[in-house]
Amino acid sequence: MAQADIGVIGLGVMGANLALNIADNGYTVAVYNRTAARTEAFAAEAGRLADRVVASATLEDFVASLKSPRSVIIMVKAGDAVDEQVSALNALMEDGDIIIDAGNANFRDTMRRFEQRAQTAPGLIGMGVSGGAEGARHGPSIMVGGAQDDWRRIEPVVTAIAAKYKGEPCAAWLGENGAGHFVKTIHNGIEYADMQMIAEVYGVMRDHLNMDAPSIASVFSVWASGPLDSYLIDITAEVLKTHDASAGVAIVDVIVDAAGQKGTGRWSVIESQMMGVPATSIEAAVAARSLSAMREERKAAQDRFGLPPMVERREGNAIISDLENALLAGKIAAYAQGFAVMAAASKEFGWGLPLATIARIWRAGCIIRSRFLDEIATAFTENPEAPNLAMTPEFAAMLEKTDAPLRRIVSEAVLNGLPVPALASAVGYFDTYRRARGTANLIQAQRDFFGAHGFARSDMEGEQHGPWGE
Ligand code: NAP
Repeated sequence: MAQADIGVIGLGVMGANLALNIADNGYTVAVYNRTAARTEAFAAEAGRLADRVVASATLEDFVASLKSPRSVIIMVKAGDAVDEQVSALNALMEDGDIIIDAGNANFRDTMRRFEQRAQTAPGLIGMGVSGGAEGARHGPSIMVGGAQDDWRRIEPVVTAIAAKYKGEPCAAWLGENGAGHFVKTIHNGIEYADMQMIAEVYGVMRDHLNMDAPSIASVFSVWASGPLDSYLIDITAEVLKTHDASAGVAIVDVIVDAAGQKGTGRWSVIESQMMGVPATSIEAAVAARSLSAMREERKAAQDRFGLPPMVERREGNAIISDLENALLAGKIAAYAQGFAVMAAASKEFGWGLPLATIARIWRAGCIIRSRFLDEIATAFTENPEAPNLAMTPEFAAMLEKTDAPLRRIVSEAVLNGLPVPALASAVGYFDTYRRARGTANLIQAQRDFFGAHGFARSDMEGEQHGPWGE
């Protein structure tokens, strides 16, 4: 008998936690997983929520257990698995039902799925979910794309399971078709930059100031109650103070320095490049992860070149305070870039992305949640037409305070051979962005010289060419 309010397909880390979250909020949830043993284990472990879980071993039984009109969340590996599930569901569901892809889809796949959707098929929602396992269980940040009518149908359950920031749900409809998955991708791109800059600052403390992990943890703990207050700073302090009993050192000291990546950072960079909007800090962070994975090459290069000698080292509170401000300035660059990419995509795809709302639903539940995002939400609410976050009064003032420390940290790191590519990219970004007379005049001359591409002159109208080789 149909009894479930909503269904979840895929009981991996995210799907299982999301299903429990739904049940915890008073809804009856139908569950199905490709590998039936996982479904059985889930139902057996649902504990006090078992009454609100309807587990099925086949997709047919799963669909039949849902109240009509049906809503199904797919939370499986992104890519072909989603296409397979959508097509299997299309055969069992009908017009008026809704399929919600809640995985980390490439938004271009989501756009294609919308285009391929038949007139009379179930509705489709592309939903980005952030917050990891803990978020999925107790309240993630949820970014929704699709038809607004479909959103209204699922809004009660989605807002119920979402994180709350001062009582406000961190879930919103952001635009048609791929809007939700695009915003989730940029969220992750910003997350890459945020994490990389934190790692760079950690590197300065570890390799330049010779601080051990517990001492660095104490610095991050202090920063956690200042302007950098965020989930990522909190967990960094937590990670750094975690001792490994078997090795007798901080666990971070025995973790191999090769970072993994699954694609969303890279997609952010690709899309920013496609739209001609620079996202240099995100780019630097993605490149740094790729370089980190080249361990053997890095070892060989250190054997060949050694490390640069230390030429300058400031001590004490001055450099720690500069590191905090440099991190803040770097963050402004990364977020300014991420929001600029979203503004451009919004125009290109006709989404009308609400930037202030995006900042608001990122204030809780997601990995980049922070005090800073509350400030961004205010800045975009008060200055909806700002061309760049850095040009809003609040952030311009913050940059004025943090610009010199960022410069000092990057200079000191570069002089001493410490890699700070994301922080350095922030300096390059601001310095290029705020210089009215740049150096592209020379590039235009070169392009005209070798390719007759023409250039504009400041003292004449129309396209011009140089007298090269006359
Ligand atoms: P996971 O723990 O590895 O679980 C993967 C799930 O996908 C399993 O239920 C698996 O079923 C199913 N699956 C894989 N291939 C399938 C196929 N061809 N057909 C049907 N089902 C298939 O993954 P996860 O971490 O929950 O991630 C699920 C989605 O959420 C991904 O898109 C991921 O990028 C996204 N996401 C993850 C996080 C995170 O922190 N983990 C955060 C946000 C978003 P079987 O049991 O049969 O293998």
